[in-house]
Amino acid sequence: MAEQISRRSFLKGGLATAAGLAASGIPVASASAGPDEGKQLATLLDIRKCIGCEACVEACSEVNLEKYPDPEKPFPKMYPNRVPVEDWSEKKDVNDRLTPYNWLFIQHAEVEIEGEETELTIPRRCMHCVNPPCVKLCPWGAAKQLENGISRIDSDICLGGSKCRKVCPWHIPQRQTGTGLYLDFMPSMAGNGVMYKCDRCYNRIADGELPACIEACPEDVQTIGPRDEIIKKAYALADEINGYIYGENENGGTNTLYVSPVPFEELNNAIEKGKGKPHLKPVEDTMAQANNLAAAMIVAPIAGIAAAVGKFYKRTK
Ligand code: SF4
Ligand code: SF4
Ligand code: SF4
Repeated sequence: MAEQISRRSFLKGGLATAAGLAASGIPVASASAGPDEGKQLATLLDIRKCIGCEACVEACSEVNLEKYPDPEKPFPKMYPNRVPVEDWSEKKDVNDRLTPYNWLFIQHAEVEIEGEETELTIPRRCMHCVNPPCVKLCPWGAAKQLENGISRIDSDICLGGSKCRKVCPWHIPQRQTGTGLYLDFMPSMAGNGVMYKCDRCYNRIADGELPACIEACPEDVQTIGPRDEIIKKAYALADEINGYIYGENENGGTNTLYVSPVPFEELNNAIEKGKGKPHLKPVEDTMAQANNLAAAMIVAPIAGIAAAVGKFYKRTK
């Protein structure tokens, strides 16, 4: 069995660790698609440990600066005018919700633990579902899942139609208007930008580094490793603290597992929810629903062709 990828082993080993991982069979990023739970990397977040310092949020912004949108203005007018402009380019500093410029934020929950009022802080970002509907139902093939379970949106291919956000149970991806392929391709007819979300620092993982948010955390809130190991750890921690697990089965299972000292129903009631502020409710398996399975089968070949056309267009531009 592959060895647990701890924070320290990443930090100590760097690239050597990556080579070791590859040799020991732990997957690093690869371009192939399709869920193989055995190869997926998951993270465990121990909510008790988080002190809400936001070092992770800052680190995420720093390392992903180059991936953020740089929109062209004025934005083309859309016909029909059914796709709203979403412009965060003047609000890049907003960090109390998910935006195209903020892929991780801290939620706050006032709860009672053993009779004492306690504030819990919860880092929130993409859950990296084992079988992600954002990937399976993207009609343009712009959202992809890597072999190690990371889902990411290719900003060179995305048209910003926001299907991914609609089918995501937590409505995670966020749109920026005025950027991406649609500007050259169909500026008035399609999409209206590009969708953005946490890509689990796929490029850092490919280089044997930790995701920036994990590396920056002073409290070691997150642990990363193969999903089966992380589930075992989550159970052990939940047993130890008499706590609760979120993510093992939500949406058919996610590669982000939270362990909380209070029930998630309580946490969900206590957090602020809304646009860019995801809930913590139980979630049924989106891709097990017949309509979505059928849609995924229809979308797959179209998405393949569309992605190829998008890539070809980008290359020949
Ligand atoms: S949480 Fe939403 S955006 Fe993230 S992988 Fe799952 S469906 Fe996709
Ligand atoms: S994994 Fe990377 S992209 Fe995702 S929240 Fe952490 S730092 Fe940001
Ligand atoms: S850096 Fe760690 S302790 Fe600080 S807010 Fe992020 S997860 Fe919590």
